[in-house]
Amino acid sequence: MRFRSWSFCCHSCRGIMRLRIPSASLPVCIPNLSSISCERISSRSQMEGFHPGKAADMVVADRLALESKVAAIRAAGPAKLQVIADFDATLTKYWVDGRRGHSSHGLLQQDNPEFDAKRQALYEYYHPLEFSPTIPIEEKTKLMEEWWGKSHALLIEGGLSYDAIKKSVANSAVAFREGVAELLEFLEEKNVPVLIFSAGLADIIEEVLRQKLHKSFKNVKIISNRMVFNDGKLVAFKGKTIHVLNKNEHALDVAAPLHDKLGDVDGTIDDTDSVKKRTNVLLLGDHIGDLGMSDGLNYDTRVSVGFLNDNIEKSLESYGKAFDIVYLNDSPMYGVVKLVNELCSNGEN
Ligand SMILES: [Mg+2]
Repeated sequence: MRFRSWSFCCHSCRGIMRLRIPSASLPVCIPNLSSISCERISSRSQMEGFHPGKAADMVVADRLALESKVAAIRAAGPAKLQVIADFDATLTKYWVDGRRGHSSHGLLQQDNPEFDAKRQALYEYYHPLEFSPTIPIEEKTKLMEEWWGKSHALLIEGGLSYDAIKKSVANSAVAFREGVAELLEFLEEKNVPVLIFSAGLADIIEEVLRQKLHKSFKNVKIISNRMVFNDGKLVAFKGKTIHVLNKNEHALDVAAPLHDKLGDVDGTIDDTDSVKKRTNVLLLGDHIGDLGMSDGLNYDTRVSVGFLNDNIEKSLESYGKAFDIVYLNDSPMYGVVKLVNELCSNGEN
Protein backbone atom coordinates (compact mmCIF):
# COMPACT_ATOMS: atom_id res chain seq x y z
CA MET A 1 0.00 0.00 0.00
CA ARG A 2 1.25 3.48 -0.79
CA PHE A 3 1.26 6.06 1.97
CA ARG A 4 1.59 9.78 1.95
CA SER A 5 3.39 11.33 4.89
CA TRP A 6 2.06 14.41 6.63
CA SER A 7 4.23 16.29 9.09
CA PHE A 8 2.91 18.70 11.67
CA CYS A 9 4.36 20.97 14.26
CA CYS A 10 2.97 20.37 17.69
CA HIS A 11 2.34 23.59 19.57
CA SER A 12 2.78 22.13 23.01
CA CYS A 13 6.23 20.65 22.66
CA ARG A 14 7.44 22.15 19.38
CA GLY A 15 7.98 18.71 18.05
CA ILE A 16 7.29 17.27 14.68
CA MET A 17 4.77 14.52 14.28
CA ARG A 18 4.32 12.50 11.13
CA LEU A 19 1.13 10.88 9.98
CA ARG A 20 1.19 8.25 7.26
CA ILE A 21 -2.10 8.16 5.48
CA PRO A 22 -2.95 5.87 2.56
CA SER A 23 -2.37 7.99 -0.50
CA ALA A 24 -5.44 6.79 -2.33
CA SER A 25 -7.85 8.21 0.18
CA LEU A 26 -7.80 10.88 2.81
CA PRO A 27 -11.35 10.79 4.04
CA VAL A 28 -10.97 12.31 7.47
CA CYS A 29 -10.11 15.78 8.53
CA ILE A 30 -6.50 16.05 9.62
CA PRO A 31 -6.57 18.15 12.73
CA ASN A 32 -4.56 21.09 13.86
CA LEU A 33 -2.62 19.27 16.48
CA SER A 34 -2.93 20.21 20.08
CA SER A 35 -1.29 18.88 23.19
CA ILE A 36 -3.87 16.08 23.14
CA SER A 37 -2.91 14.81 19.74
CA CYS A 38 0.82 15.18 20.14
CA GLU A 39 2.54 11.85 20.19
CA ARG A 40 5.69 13.09 21.79
CA ILE A 41 5.79 12.07 25.39
CA SER A 42 6.71 14.71 27.89
CA SER A 43 6.84 15.05 31.67
CA ARG A 44 6.17 11.75 33.46
CA SER A 45 6.14 9.70 30.32
CA GLN A 46 9.77 9.78 29.29
CA MET A 47 9.82 6.05 29.67
CA GLU A 48 12.55 3.64 28.83
CA GLY A 49 12.56 2.44 25.27
CA PHE A 50 10.57 5.33 23.88
CA HIS A 51 12.30 7.33 21.21
CA PRO A 52 10.96 10.86 21.10
CA GLY A 53 11.80 11.18 17.44
CA LYS A 54 9.87 8.09 16.40
CA ALA A 55 6.88 8.82 14.23
CA ALA A 56 3.48 7.65 15.33
CA ASP A 57 0.52 7.25 13.08
CA MET A 58 -2.62 8.88 14.34
CA VAL A 59 -5.80 10.40 12.99
CA VAL A 60 -8.23 12.60 14.91
CA ALA A 61 -11.28 13.43 12.85
CA ASP A 62 -12.79 16.00 15.19
CA ARG A 63 -10.18 17.70 17.30
CA LEU A 64 -12.58 20.09 19.00
CA ALA A 65 -14.91 17.30 20.08
CA LEU A 66 -11.95 15.35 21.44
CA GLU A 67 -10.63 18.36 23.35
CA SER A 68 -14.04 18.93 24.85
CA LYS A 69 -14.34 15.31 25.99
CA VAL A 70 -10.84 15.30 27.46
CA ALA A 71 -11.58 18.52 29.34
CA ALA A 72 -14.80 17.05 30.76
CA ILE A 73 -13.10 13.86 31.94
CA ARG A 74 -10.15 15.78 33.38
CA ALA A 75 -12.49 18.09 35.30
CA ALA A 76 -14.35 15.13 36.82
CA GLY A 77 -11.08 13.56 37.98
CA PRO A 78 -9.71 10.00 37.99
CA ALA A 79 -12.27 8.83 40.59
CA LYS A 80 -14.90 9.05 37.85
CA LEU A 81 -12.89 7.26 35.19
CA GLN A 82 -12.80 3.64 34.09
CA VAL A 83 -10.93 2.05 31.20
CA ILE A 84 -12.46 -0.66 29.02
CA ALA A 85 -10.10 -2.44 26.67
CA ASP A 86 -10.24 -5.21 24.14
CA PHE A 87 -7.27 -7.59 24.37
CA ASP A 88 -6.22 -9.16 21.04
CA ALA A 89 -4.65 -6.67 18.61
CA THR A 90 -5.58 -3.81 20.95
CA LEU A 91 -3.35 -4.31 23.97
CA THR A 92 -1.27 -6.76 21.95
CA LYS A 93 0.54 -6.12 18.70
CA TYR A 94 -0.98 -7.15 15.38
CA TRP A 95 2.40 -8.05 13.91
CA VAL A 96 5.04 -9.90 15.93
CA ASP A 97 8.47 -10.57 14.42
CA GLY A 98 7.15 -10.04 10.92
CA ARG A 99 4.15 -12.36 11.21
CA ARG A 100 0.59 -12.04 12.45
CA GLY A 101 0.67 -12.21 16.25
CA HIS A 102 -1.21 -14.99 17.99
CA SER A 103 -4.58 -14.35 19.58
CA SER A 104 -5.28 -15.58 23.10
CA HIS A 105 -7.29 -18.44 21.55
CA GLY A 106 -4.91 -19.12 18.69
CA LEU A 107 -1.78 -19.60 20.75
CA LEU A 108 -3.07 -22.59 22.67
CA GLN A 109 -1.45 -25.97 22.04
CA GLN A 110 -2.86 -28.85 24.06
CA ASP A 111 0.20 -31.08 23.95
CA ASN A 112 -2.16 -33.37 22.07
CA PRO A 113 -1.72 -33.05 18.28
CA GLU A 114 -4.97 -34.87 17.53
CA PHE A 115 -7.03 -32.32 19.45
CA ASP A 116 -5.01 -29.35 18.18
CA ALA A 117 -5.81 -30.56 14.66
CA LYS A 118 -9.52 -30.90 15.50
CA ARG A 119 -9.65 -27.32 16.82
CA GLN A 120 -7.79 -26.11 13.73
CA ALA A 121 -10.38 -27.84 11.54
CA LEU A 122 -13.13 -25.99 13.45
CA TYR A 123 -11.29 -22.72 12.86
CA GLU A 124 -11.05 -23.39 9.14
CA TYR A 125 -14.77 -24.12 8.96
CA TYR A 126 -16.17 -21.38 11.20
CA HIS A 127 -13.76 -18.49 10.74
CA PRO A 128 -14.95 -17.68 7.18
CA LEU A 129 -18.55 -17.87 8.45
CA GLU A 130 -17.75 -15.28 11.14
CA PHE A 131 -16.86 -12.77 8.44
CA SER A 132 -19.45 -13.78 5.86
CA PRO A 133 -21.49 -10.74 4.80
CA THR A 134 -24.44 -12.89 3.71
CA ILE A 135 -25.28 -14.79 6.92
CA PRO A 136 -27.95 -13.06 9.05
CA ILE A 137 -26.79 -12.08 12.51
CA GLU A 138 -29.11 -14.50 14.36
CA GLU A 139 -27.81 -17.40 12.34
CA LYS A 140 -24.23 -16.24 12.73
CA THR A 141 -24.67 -15.97 16.49
CA LYS A 142 -25.80 -19.60 16.58
CA LEU A 143 -22.78 -20.62 14.49
CA MET A 144 -20.41 -18.78 16.84
CA GLU A 145 -22.03 -20.47 19.87
CA GLU A 146 -21.50 -23.79 18.11
CA TRP A 147 -17.86 -22.99 17.35
CA TRP A 148 -17.00 -21.86 20.89
CA GLY A 149 -18.93 -24.76 22.40
CA LYS A 150 -17.16 -27.38 20.27
CA SER A 151 -13.74 -25.80 20.88
CA HIS A 152 -14.25 -25.72 24.63
CA ALA A 153 -15.47 -29.32 24.61
CA LEU A 154 -12.34 -30.39 22.72
CA LEU A 155 -10.14 -28.64 25.27
CA ILE A 156 -11.82 -30.59 28.06
CA GLU A 157 -11.91 -33.89 26.16
CA GLY A 158 -8.25 -33.50 25.18
CA GLY A 159 -7.28 -33.07 28.82
CA LEU A 160 -5.82 -29.56 28.63
CA SER A 161 -3.46 -28.94 31.54
CA TYR A 162 -2.50 -25.63 33.09
CA ASP A 163 1.12 -26.50 32.33
CA ALA A 164 0.22 -26.65 28.64
CA ILE A 165 -1.17 -23.11 28.92
CA LYS A 166 2.06 -21.88 30.48
CA LYS A 167 4.10 -23.60 27.79
CA SER A 168 1.86 -22.32 24.98
CA VAL A 169 2.18 -18.73 26.21
CA ALA A 170 5.96 -19.09 26.54
CA ASN A 171 6.18 -20.37 22.94
CA SER A 172 3.63 -17.94 21.48
CA ALA A 173 4.00 -15.02 19.13
CA VAL A 174 2.20 -12.63 21.47
CA ALA A 175 3.62 -9.26 22.46
CA PHE A 176 2.10 -6.25 24.15
CA ARG A 177 2.35 -2.93 22.41
CA GLU A 178 5.19 -0.86 23.78
CA GLY A 179 3.80 1.31 26.55
CA VAL A 180 1.10 -1.10 27.79
CA ALA A 181 3.01 -1.79 31.03
CA GLU A 182 3.40 1.95 31.63
CA LEU A 183 -0.29 2.47 30.89
CA LEU A 184 -1.44 -0.18 33.38
CA GLU A 185 1.04 1.01 36.02
CA PHE A 186 -0.15 4.59 35.70
CA LEU A 187 -3.81 3.57 35.94
CA GLU A 188 -3.05 1.39 38.97
CA GLU A 189 -1.33 4.32 40.63
CA LYS A 190 -4.46 6.41 40.02
CA ASN A 191 -6.81 3.60 41.18
CA VAL A 192 -8.55 3.61 37.82
CA PRO A 193 -10.11 0.19 37.06
CA VAL A 194 -9.26 -1.49 33.78
CA LEU A 195 -11.67 -4.08 32.40
CA ILE A 196 -10.31 -6.25 29.62
CA PHE A 197 -13.16 -7.75 27.57
CA SER A 198 -12.35 -10.75 25.43
CA ALA A 199 -14.11 -13.63 23.70
CA GLY A 200 -10.89 -15.59 24.25
CA LEU A 201 -9.82 -17.32 27.42
CA ALA A 202 -9.31 -15.44 30.70
CA ASP A 203 -6.79 -17.93 32.07
CA ILE A 204 -4.60 -17.49 29.01
CA ILE A 205 -4.83 -13.71 29.05
CA GLU A 206 -3.79 -13.71 32.71
CA GLU A 207 -0.86 -15.98 31.90
CA VAL A 208 0.16 -13.66 29.04
CA LEU A 209 0.06 -10.71 31.47
CA ARG A 210 2.19 -12.67 33.96
CA GLN A 211 4.78 -13.88 31.46
CA LYS A 212 5.07 -10.83 29.25
CA LEU A 213 4.70 -8.04 31.81
CA HIS A 214 6.10 -9.95 34.81
CA LYS A 215 3.63 -8.52 37.27
CA SER A 216 -0.02 -8.43 38.17
CA PHE A 217 -2.16 -5.34 38.51
CA LYS A 218 -4.77 -5.04 41.23
CA ASN A 219 -6.89 -2.70 39.09
CA VAL A 220 -7.08 -5.05 36.06
CA LYS A 221 -9.93 -7.54 35.64
CA ILE A 222 -10.43 -9.91 32.75
CA ILE A 223 -13.97 -10.48 31.48
CA SER A 224 -13.64 -13.59 29.37
CA ASN A 225 -14.22 -17.37 29.33
CA ARG A 226 -12.81 -18.81 32.52
CA MET A 227 -11.66 -22.39 33.00
CA VAL A 228 -12.09 -24.71 35.96
CA PHE A 229 -9.14 -27.00 36.71
CA ASN A 230 -9.07 -30.10 38.84
CA ASP A 231 -5.69 -31.68 39.61
CA GLY A 232 -4.16 -29.44 36.96
CA LYS A 233 -6.58 -30.60 34.21
CA LEU A 234 -9.36 -28.60 32.62
CA VAL A 235 -12.75 -30.01 33.66
CA ALA A 236 -15.25 -27.24 32.86
CA PHE A 237 -15.86 -23.63 31.93
CA LYS A 238 -17.54 -21.17 34.26
CA GLY A 239 -20.79 -19.50 33.32
CA LYS A 240 -22.16 -18.57 29.94
CA THR A 241 -19.87 -18.81 26.92
CA ILE A 242 -18.59 -15.45 25.73
CA HIS A 243 -18.08 -15.50 21.97
CA VAL A 244 -17.22 -12.86 19.46
CA LEU A 245 -20.82 -11.79 18.87
CA ASN A 246 -22.09 -11.68 22.46
CA LYS A 247 -18.89 -10.39 24.07
CA ASN A 248 -20.27 -6.95 24.82
CA GLU A 249 -23.77 -7.74 26.01
CA HIS A 250 -22.58 -10.52 28.30
CA ALA A 251 -19.53 -8.70 29.57
CA LEU A 252 -21.66 -6.00 31.12
CA ASP A 253 -23.43 -8.51 33.35
CA VAL A 254 -20.09 -9.70 34.63
CA ALA A 255 -18.48 -6.29 34.80
CA ALA A 256 -20.91 -4.59 37.17
CA PRO A 257 -20.20 -6.65 40.30
CA LEU A 258 -16.48 -6.55 39.53
CA HIS A 259 -16.59 -2.81 39.43
CA ASP A 260 -18.25 -2.77 42.81
CA LYS A 261 -15.36 -4.72 44.27
CA LEU A 262 -12.76 -2.65 42.47
CA GLY A 263 -14.03 0.59 43.88
CA ASP A 264 -12.33 0.27 47.22
CA VAL A 265 -8.55 -0.05 47.12
CA ASP A 266 -8.55 -1.68 50.55
CA GLY A 267 -10.26 -4.69 49.01
CA THR A 268 -13.64 -4.40 50.67
CA ILE A 269 -16.83 -3.99 48.74
CA ASP A 270 -17.88 -0.38 48.61
CA ASP A 271 -21.06 0.32 46.72
CA THR A 272 -20.51 4.05 46.85
CA ASP A 273 -17.73 3.70 44.31
CA SER A 274 -19.44 1.29 41.98
CA VAL A 275 -19.69 1.21 38.24
CA LYS A 276 -22.49 3.72 38.39
CA LYS A 277 -20.16 6.32 39.84
CA ARG A 278 -17.46 5.79 37.23
CA THR A 279 -19.31 7.71 34.59
CA ASN A 280 -16.41 8.51 32.30
CA VAL A 281 -14.89 5.93 29.99
CA LEU A 282 -11.72 5.54 28.01
CA LEU A 283 -12.39 2.74 25.53
CA LEU A 284 -9.68 0.93 23.56
CA GLY A 285 -10.46 -1.43 20.69
CA ASP A 286 -9.36 -2.62 17.28
CA HIS A 287 -12.81 -3.27 15.75
CA ILE A 288 -15.68 -0.85 15.41
CA GLY A 289 -17.79 -3.47 17.18
CA ASP A 290 -15.58 -2.99 20.24
CA LEU A 291 -17.34 0.32 20.81
CA GLY A 292 -20.23 -1.79 22.07
CA MET A 293 -18.16 -2.70 25.13
CA SER A 294 -19.45 0.42 26.86
CA ASP A 295 -23.10 -0.12 25.87
CA GLY A 296 -25.43 0.07 28.81
CA LEU A 297 -22.94 1.77 31.10
CA ASN A 298 -24.82 5.04 30.82
CA TYR A 299 -21.61 7.03 30.72
CA ASP A 300 -21.34 10.82 30.77
CA THR A 301 -18.29 11.11 28.56
CA ARG A 302 -16.42 8.53 26.53
CA VAL A 303 -13.15 8.92 24.68
CA SER A 304 -12.66 6.07 22.22
CA VAL A 305 -9.34 4.98 20.77
CA GLY A 306 -9.23 2.62 17.79
CA PHE A 307 -6.24 0.66 16.54
CA LEU A 308 -6.53 0.19 12.80
CA ASN A 309 -4.01 -2.52 12.14
CA ASP A 310 -4.84 -3.81 8.69
CA ASN A 311 -6.86 -2.89 5.58
CA ILE A 312 -6.13 0.73 6.42
CA GLU A 313 -7.12 2.13 3.07
CA LYS A 314 -10.53 0.46 3.15
CA SER A 315 -11.32 1.14 6.79
CA LEU A 316 -9.83 4.52 7.62
CA GLU A 317 -12.97 6.49 6.87
CA SER A 318 -15.24 4.33 9.03
CA TYR A 319 -12.70 4.16 11.86
CA GLY A 320 -12.16 7.93 11.70
CA LYS A 321 -15.89 8.47 12.11
CA ALA A 322 -16.35 5.84 14.81
CA PHE A 323 -13.38 6.52 17.11
CA ASP A 324 -12.20 9.82 18.60
CA ILE A 325 -8.60 8.82 17.93
CA VAL A 326 -7.35 6.23 15.45
CA TYR A 327 -3.85 4.79 15.58
CA LEU A 328 -2.53 3.25 12.40
CA ASN A 329 0.13 0.73 11.50
CA ASP A 330 0.33 -1.19 14.78
CA SER A 331 1.29 1.91 16.79
CA PRO A 332 2.68 1.70 20.31
CA MET A 333 0.55 2.63 23.32
CA TYR A 334 2.53 5.74 24.26
CA GLY A 335 -0.06 8.10 22.80
CA VAL A 336 -2.66 6.56 25.14
CA VAL A 337 -0.23 6.92 28.06
CA LYS A 338 -0.01 10.60 27.23
CA LEU A 339 -3.79 10.75 26.97
CA VAL A 340 -4.44 9.17 30.40
CA ASN A 341 -1.89 11.55 31.91
CA GLU A 342 -4.08 14.35 30.62
CA LEU A 343 -7.33 12.71 31.70
CA CYS A 344 -6.01 12.22 35.25
CA SER A 345 -4.19 15.51 35.62
CA ASN A 346 -6.80 17.18 37.77
CA GLY A 347 -6.38 16.08 41.37
CA GLU A 348 -6.20 12.64 42.92
CA ASN A 349 -8.68 9.90 43.58
MG1 LIG B 1 -9.31 -7.35 19.15
